[in-house]
Amino acid sequence: MRTVYLNGEFIAENEAKISVFDRGFTFADAIYEVTAVLQGKLLDFDLHVARLRRSLGEMALALPLSDDELLAIHQTLLSRNALQEGLVYLQVSRGVEDRNFAFPAEGTPPTLVLYTQAKNIIASPLAQQGMKIISLPDLRWGRCDIKTTQLLYACLAKEQARQRGADDAWLVKEGLITEGTSNNAFIVTADGAVVTRELSRLLLPGITRSTLITLIHQQGLRIEERGFTLDEVKHAAEAFISSSTSFVYPVVNVDGQPVGDGQPGQLTQRIRQFYIDRALAVTA
Ligand code: PLP
Repeated sequence: MRTVYLNGEFIAENEAKISVFDRGFTFADAIYEVTAVLQGKLLDFDLHVARLRRSLGEMALALPLSDDELLAIHQTLLSRNALQEGLVYLQVSRGVEDRNFAFPAEGTPPTLVLYTQAKNIIASPLAQQGMKIISLPDLRWGRCDIKTTQLLYACLAKEQARQRGADDAWLVKEGLITEGTSNNAFIVTADGAVVTRELSRLLLPGITRSTLITLIHQQGLRIEERGFTLDEVKHAAEAFISSSTSFVYPVVNVDGQPVGDGQPGQLTQRIRQFYIDRALAVTA
């Protein structure tokens, strides 16, 4: 059984209890982060904590813990659970109060929860075989740059993908792909440019995305941050997704049509390997 963290305590997962009045439960009034764990160490914790601070700031949600205190909680959880590979999930909600849409009284403590989850990130079947994607309209709210737990549309989209025999959905707004349900979307054009949507309020500023952009630059490859259409995907040589707990997965099929030759792309596999090499080096 796992040990989880709840409001200052490390306790068995079946003893962790949260109020039915918690605003995370009733309003999805909560922020979260997911940090990958490799070789028993956190990957890019500093970048995740910086994004957490930004999300909290945008939601005017106070968390009275320093970055060092948050790091110590993460590390204690890793060692208590002997986690080698997987993730740490962190969630901060605006705390507990009787139902009221407006914020609770000042000083109401937030609810802070962290837990670990094991996952094979490196030896992943989807990394080998590639993902099948369907496209769906992007019906999410206007602040997808904030990592809130308000993920209902992403759940509906992912479930629709599953029911149609696919692995995920790419979301399309005004003819351009924003991102996947829980990942950033990339294509490689026929002439070898890597393309991903520019940052805005329409998508999450993925930590993996930003590291990949730097790595792709360093490898002397071309990267373009701009919108792209489903028609461009159809004519792309390769496609892939990025996220903290998948790193890079090839995309081999979109809306029932093969991408490129329908196999994981060579450049995609190289980019995944660059990312893994860097991740293993920084967690060594
Ligand atoms: N976009 C969305 C909507 C996500 O939920 C996620 C991750 O959960 C990402 C992109 C990828 O972000 P990161 O690379 O920081 O995990």
